[in-house]
Amino acid sequence: MSDTILVVCPHCHAPNRVPLARLSEAPVCGRCKRALFDAQPVALDAASFETHVMRGELPVLVDFWAPWCGPCRMMAPQFEAAAAQLEPRVRLAKVNTEAEPALGARFDVRSIPTLILFRQGREVARRAGASGAAGIVRWARSQLS
Ligand code: ZN
Repeated sequence: MSDTILVVCPHCHAPNRVPLARLSEAPVCGRCKRALFDAQPVALDAASFETHVMRGELPVLVDFWAPWCGPCRMMAPQFEAAAAQLEPRVRLAKVNTEAEPALGARFDVRSIPTLILFRQGREVARRAGASGAAGIVRWARSQLS
């Protein structure tokens, strides 16, 4: 098992190799110098999705949502709160399925919000419907343990 992990910067999307032992020590991006973890879900488009989900080595929990979806908007602050608890072990991300319909179609997202947990680029779990921060955190941890 490697003692470093490839973490993709949520700001400039540069890949950063971070020693596992330093993951919790507020690492910064080598390119843009901003924090690699700031308790905010990162908004992904088609290109940055590839980098974060397929290339990055952190598990990525993606919220597939849309601006017109009321339950999605209600869940947004809960998802942010979950990011604060799940980082730096999990990257939380959002895909706006209205702006990125191809990503929603690729993963056969039929209702929103849908949460999909990816690990090493592969889907490991998904759940549909809005939930609170505690429920999101508990579910993600149970899938990764
Ligand atoms: Zn950066």
